[in-house]
Amino acid sequence: MEYSKVTPAIVDELKAIFGERNVLTDPEKLEAYASDEAGKQWLHMPEVVVKAENEDQIVQLMKLANREHVPVTPRGAGSGLAGSCVPVYGGIVLSMEKMNRILEIDEVNMVAVCEPGVVTNDLCKAVADKGLFYAGYPMSVEESYIGANVVTNAGGAKVVKYGSTRSHVLGIECISATGEKLVLGGKRRKETSGYSLLQLMVGSEGTLAVVTKVIINLTVPPNMTVDLLVPFANFDDAVKASSNVIRTTKVYPITMEFMDIFSVKTTVEHLKLPAFPAQDQAAAYLLFTLEGKNQDELDELAEKAGTACLDMGALDVFVASTKTESDKLWTVRQQMPSVVLEKFPHMLAGDVVVPRSEVAEFIVKARDIMTKYPDLQLFFFGHIGDGNIHPNILDKESRSNQAWIEYSEKVYGELCMLGAQMGGTVSGEHGIGLGKKHVLSQALGEYPIALMRGIKEVFDPNGILNPGKIFDLK
Ligand SMILES: Cc1cc2nc3c(=O)[nH]c(=O)nc-3n(C[C@H](O)[C@H](O)[C@H](O)COP(=O)(O)OP(=O)(O)OC[C@H]3O[C@@H](n4cnc5c(N)ncnc54)[C@H](O)[C@@H]3O)c2cc1C
Repeated sequence: MEYSKVTPAIVDELKAIFGERNVLTDPEKLEAYASDEAGKQWLHMPEVVVKAENEDQIVQLMKLANREHVPVTPRGAGSGLAGSCVPVYGGIVLSMEKMNRILEIDEVNMVAVCEPGVVTNDLCKAVADKGLFYAGYPMSVEESYIGANVVTNAGGAKVVKYGSTRSHVLGIECISATGEKLVLGGKRRKETSGYSLLQLMVGSEGTLAVVTKVIINLTVPPNMTVDLLVPFANFDDAVKASSNVIRTTKVYPITMEFMDIFSVKTTVEHLKLPAFPAQDQAAAYLLFTLEGKNQDELDELAEKAGTACLDMGALDVFVASTKTESDKLWTVRQQMPSVVLEKFPHMLAGDVVVPRSEVAEFIVKARDIMTKYPDLQLFFFGHIGDGNIHPNILDKESRSNQAWIEYSEKVYGELCMLGAQMGGTVSGEHGIGLGKKHVLSQALGEYPIALMRGIKEVFDPNGILNPGKIFDLK
């Protein structure tokens, strides 16, 4: 795709729309908007950054961008792991950081109405103050924005019980790529009124429209909960035990996470925390949360779950008896992605998802594939309860950025195809962005991609909204 450059005249027009204070052109300031957590190897500089304060400015921006044929890339907090907010063709980055108000917490309908730039944790805290609960938040809850969670269909530790962001979005207001306002869904809880454009927006990675408002479903907080940490000497036993817990207890845990020993040791040492129990013998851990209506029910459930783990070869079962103990365990899991991303600049944060029944076999076969690549390290942590266990790949050599992109994409593509053949798919929650385009078309086949291209053309005939993501434009 060829695009026009942002000229001084366009910058002047942007200043008139957004106000001088909300238009950045200084290269030092632009750099903060050039990459995301997928890594600096994906860095592309924008020509200008604008910070929207209201939807009318976004309408004007989209009309201007279409007229001038300049690309616009929406951006949340930049915590994405797929390069989805990186302005590959330069142009204008549209930052949502100033549209950050929680507009309403409606206790009657049990919904929150937010601007897209609300930090998800701020939403969680605000609804908790009213005795309510937002269950869809990802592990990046302290930095990522709710609007971006919606367009990436973010998941998190609680998907196993509550579903990913898609399950929690009741309404969206957005500005289409051509500058038309769309009001999709609302506070209502059901709808069969033609195609669901609302659900089309969820997971669209900012390629169809700019989200300006979201209506989020709330629920009540869990009853009494308990966290269990279970070490296993054998990696595969831990994987099998996770299914055994769900099969035996016949309830979905609130969380069901898996961490291999490499991930645990790296995180604990980096954060200078005390070692995990049985760290010298363990190859992997399960960390999961159970919910009960009262202490008796919780104790009975924990007993059953613990036995289900021991039956599968667990070394021991540690029950966190206080909130402080639980918090310590969850700090390690919560910080794990940030620690490995910070420590290893050449790390591909994998995101394959398979049906829960296939996780054990997927891991065995993935490790088999990786024996062909002794110059790479494969390690896992993730949301095993929903089959989204992250196969992360680490560069053991000092390749150039470009060589790493090409090599890691090729190898990761093999893992994705393995997952796809087992009834899974390429991305469970991070999205496709830049790096997984080739493997998405391989996994889905040409026809679904052609349909997606057709949808993109209807919303964005000039191809100016977040181009180069999910699939290449013709
Ligand atoms: C440490 C860490 C842990 C993570 N854990 C998880 C996890 O548990 N689960 C998970 O799903 N992800 C996780 N992620 C990935 C990431 O946090 C999510 O993808 C998150 O939803 C991105 O939010 P963001 O505000 O940073 O968006 P960005 O990265 O800035 O943007 C993401 C996408 O949203 C688009 N976008 C942003 N705002 C708008 C808007 N208003 N309208 C239209 N498009 C828009 C962008 O164009 C881009 O395509 C993690 C990342 C890190 C660094």
